[in-house]
Amino acid sequence: MSRVAIVTGGTRGIGEAISLALRDKGMTVVANYAGNEQRAREFTDRTGIAAYKWDVGDHQACLDGCAQVEKDHGPIDVLVNNAGITRDGVIQKMSFDDWNEVIRVNLGGCFNMAKAIFPGMRDRKWGRIVNIGSINGQAGQYGQVNYAAAKSGIHGFTKALAQEGAKYGVTVNALAPGYIDTDMVAAVPQGVLEKIVAKIPVGRLGHAEEIARGVAFLCSEDAGFVTGSTLSINGGQHMY
Ligand code: NDP
Repeated sequence: MSRVAIVTGGTRGIGEAISLALRDKGMTVVANYAGNEQRAREFTDRTGIAAYKWDVGDHQACLDGCAQVEKDHGPIDVLVNNAGITRDGVIQKMSFDDWNEVIRVNLGGCFNMAKAIFPGMRDRKWGRIVNIGSINGQAGQYGQVNYAAAKSGIHGFTKALAQEGAKYGVTVNALAPGYIDTDMVAAVPQGVLEKIVAKIPVGRLGHAEEIARGVAFLCSEDAGFVTGSTLSINGGQHMY
């Protein structure tokens, strides 16, 4: 029987590549998204993968959305917490709303989704959770105290939940991408991006598929002994 996987923010960027990689591994995949209807429709038309809209920062919406997915497709075996946003700015210009919104979506979303899905995985004694962190959660980044704090929090969240799942066949890991050529990075000013790429030893941005292949491994049967880990995929940037 095919595993059921949900990928938050799974309709574009890194999430889209993850949705496709898990489907290629034989899973029944559903993708969640926030509100970009056109991209979600194009994604479903192109891939045949069902897309469900809700805000992962909304606790009740996650409980209701996951219940609907399970009604439509069966129990969720694999959760990839990929949805994420940026609201960058140096601290003197960052509003309290910018701080709160990034923590609410990027970190709160992981809690909300795990709260909906982890108990069922635990009962069924099998599950895979992968939380998408960031090199900027590991190293920090100028102008991103909100994002770096949320992503750093994901790494702690992962190690704590991994301990709760370990005896029940539920693995929980983080994957920390470096800079990947998606819409999120397209929003970075060109001059800043050039300086960032100059610091990446392989000399280029990463591709979403390179992250997706790492996620697919962490979600596989083969990865049953990997838990509480962070897989860093960043072209060597973590060495600096
Ligand atoms: P994109 O901005 O390209 O896509 C973000 C996705 O998340 C979209 O599908 C979007 O939905 C969804 N999303 C945003 N907010 C919410 C929400 N509140 N509820 C549900 N879905 C939401 O991002 P990337 O593909 O670049 O990034 C994916 C993940 O990887 C993020 O967590 C990001 O922080 C992380 N990351 C990215 C890096 C990069 O270089 N790109 C580097 C390191 C980490 P919709 O389409 O409806 O807006």
